[in-house]
Amino acid sequence: MELPTRIIPNPHLLQSDDLLKYVLDTTVFPREPQPLKELRDLTANHPRAMMATAPDAGQFVALLLKLTGAKKTIELGVFTGYSLLLTALTIPQDGKITAIDTNREFYEIGLPVIQKAGIGHKIEFIESEALPVLDELLKKEANEGSYDFAYVDADKLNYWNYHERLMKLVKVGGIIVYDNTLWGGSVAADPATVGHRGGAVTQSTIQFNKSIAADPRVDISLAPLGDGITVCRRIY
Ligand code: SAH
Ligand code: CA
Repeated sequence: MELPTRIIPNPHLLQSDDLLKYVLDTTVFPREPQPLKELRDLTANHPRAMMATAPDAGQFVALLLKLTGAKKTIELGVFTGYSLLLTALTIPQDGKITAIDTNREFYEIGLPVIQKAGIGHKIEFIESEALPVLDELLKKEANEGSYDFAYVDADKLNYWNYHERLMKLVKVGGIIVYDNTLWGGSVAADPATVGHRGGAVTQSTIQFNKSIAADPRVDISLAPLGDGITVCRRIY
């Protein structure tokens, strides 16, 4: 169904590669810290490089970290560490990040850059499935409401399970960011034409977006940066 154009203020805004390139070249890359650029270059030829957080989305995440003064954060899904390094460079010297990924080898690709940047002391890396780590953290009452910020970028099928746990771990007023919530645009595509991105992840992302929109415990915004990032603020 075609929507009347008047309710779409900026039709197809980021569907132009030239426009995205313009944003990156004028606003993002000139301000990207050197270690992050190095990590991005290091990851560029990795067969799964497309998994890394988009630099324009990353810049927004860094701004959110600064706006909220986040100090204690948790990250699910590290890969080679673009979002992790970005967080570590942004939070204060005595800030702490718990970073969880099932694959330590990915993390070790970026580790030399992380260490060289002098922020390694802020990071605790845990090689594990994310869900059991969250459940373990929740066994200690002191962890409840103790995180200022969470960045979620691990297996998309578990996003709602992560949300339920993070709503207890992140403090009231704290922020949870979910990456890839537009999943290549497939969430709004005709199911017959979405190709390999039209499977379980698309279905689960559609369900996640619906559930988040109906969750009274959070303020939300789905920012169409990168592959879509949903920002939630815990209200109560
Ligand atoms: N945030 C990263 C990209 C993460 S890609 C960046 O900016 O580069 C997704 C990552 O989630 C992969 O590294 C994968 O190993 C990890 N992953 C997949 N399933 C997981 C799970 N169940 N628990 C934790 N990590 C998982
Ligand atoms: Ca991602």
